[in-house]
Amino acid sequence: MPGLFYIMSNKPVVIIGAGIGGLSTGVLLVNRDIKVEIFEKSKKVGGRTSSVTYRNHILDNGFHIMPFYKKSAIYDVMKEANIESRLKLAIVSDIAFYDGAGFHKYPKGITDILQMSLIPFKSRLSLLKILLPMAFTSMEKTEELDKIPLTEVTRKLDYHSKRFFDAVCMLAFADTPDHISLGEFARTIIRANPFKGGTSEFAYPDMGGYDRISQVMADYIRETKSGVHLEKPIKKISISDGKVNGIILNDDTLMETDCVIVSYPAYHAINQLFDDGIFDNEFIKKINRLDKTTSVVEVHFALSKKIDSRQVVFPVGKDYASKGIFFISNITPSVSPPGEHLLIVGTPIKPEETDNPLRIKEIVTQMKQELSEIYPEFDSALLWERAMAWKLVEAVVKEPGLVWKNKMPHSVENVDGLFFVGDSTISYGIGTDSAAHSSILAHPKIMEYLSK
Ligand SMILES: Cc1cc2nc3c(=O)[nH]c(=O)nc-3n(C[C@H](O)[C@H](O)[C@H](O)COP(=O)(O)OP(=O)(O)OC[C@H]3O[C@@H](n4cnc5c(N)ncnc54)[C@H](O)[C@@H]3O)c2cc1C
Repeated sequence: MPGLFYIMSNKPVVIIGAGIGGLSTGVLLVNRDIKVEIFEKSKKVGGRTSSVTYRNHILDNGFHIMPFYKKSAIYDVMKEANIESRLKLAIVSDIAFYDGAGFHKYPKGITDILQMSLIPFKSRLSLLKILLPMAFTSMEKTEELDKIPLTEVTRKLDYHSKRFFDAVCMLAFADTPDHISLGEFARTIIRANPFKGGTSEFAYPDMGGYDRISQVMADYIRETKSGVHLEKPIKKISISDGKVNGIILNDDTLMETDCVIVSYPAYHAINQLFDDGIFDNEFIKKINRLDKTTSVVEVHFALSKKIDSRQVVFPVGKDYASKGIFFISNITPSVSPPGEHLLIVGTPIKPEETDNPLRIKEIVTQMKQELSEIYPEFDSALLWERAMAWKLVEAVVKEPGLVWKNKMPHSVENVDGLFFVGDSTISYGIGTDSAAHSSILAHPKIMEYLSK
């Protein structure tokens, strides 16, 4: 039985970080009877997905949604451990565009594009000409497109079709088409294709708070003899003769282990957790190239009235600051106290703008103006607002040349027992889905090492 030898050794596998990547890896390992100890530096599990309670509302760390619903890598991890029923999911499928004149239904699948009222019929045909071959190509073929920008195929399109791509890129990548790799876009379209076993549906934890997913995973890990330890930052990974032999905790104690899995952005970890000389300069340079991330401003608004029954609205056409309006209380009422409604409005910004309170204030003012134009009841219903900015959305942007196999590898040749997972490591998918996907891909390699 793989891992049997390791079970007999009393040293646990150590995972650094309790975000979706670290916890997914933990779930897969304890499911194979491997003892793991997860060390998380913050007070909560969830990493970038952790939420807070504010004025009796559950506020996510920016808007979070699970792409590919029950076809997501997160769901696959839970199914593998038989714990998927512990996470009740609300479907997010009532999505619309707003073009200044009215609302238009967002296409759920490729075939819906023919009926999409947002754009003229002729533009729908040119969209299908691009999307259909993508939806039916193979995952292997998409690798040939990884270094090509999405705009290579969209640049000749008319204005109407281009705004469709703008909205899809906002929904899927919180970014604009010029930053997206054609290969990554094509994989997303394949995974959304029901004829290829995919789905374009999204989901959100029915109990409210995206970190519910991490809590379910952490509970499962704790039910075994394994542990998830909070407020325990790891200072260093100790390596001797090309082999991991322990971790150094914040109080400088050494905990022995033969296997460490790092689950936070690799370009930070390789510069923080290791003595000089472990990685050569070329490798460090290559991994540091990944340190490019999308930044966003997102504003929570609490309202005393329901101003729309839709779940998500994408303002398109004009230069709206509000790129996506997410009516979270319409996805699940559990996020808000009775009689109150929560929404979050987001827009991508330049990383340096995240530190500029005046710029953020300007964005919030523009968003509020737009919301009252679209929804005349918005002003009278507004109870409070709370703006936040994030520099690190996904660990790696979906830029050409920085996706899929160009990301951080799960293991390195010169150090035995050292693994990397999380959204900066080899994986495709969106945010949390890619963090879980990396864990699924790394799992057999970790098991092979443990069974040696
Ligand atoms: C505003 C915003 C909106 C987003 N929207 C979506 C969305 O809609 N859908 C989606 O799927 N994804 C979304 N994402 C992206 C998603 O949150 C991330 O891709 C995902 O959570 C990454 O998971 P991870 O486990 O790789 O890393 P993380 O979540 O960053 O987890 C790493 C963990 O490691 C811990 N850690 C770091 N250093 C140490 C140390 N030395 N010792 C111990 N612990 C340490 C950190 O505290 C953290 O908890 C969004 C992100 C943001 C910020």
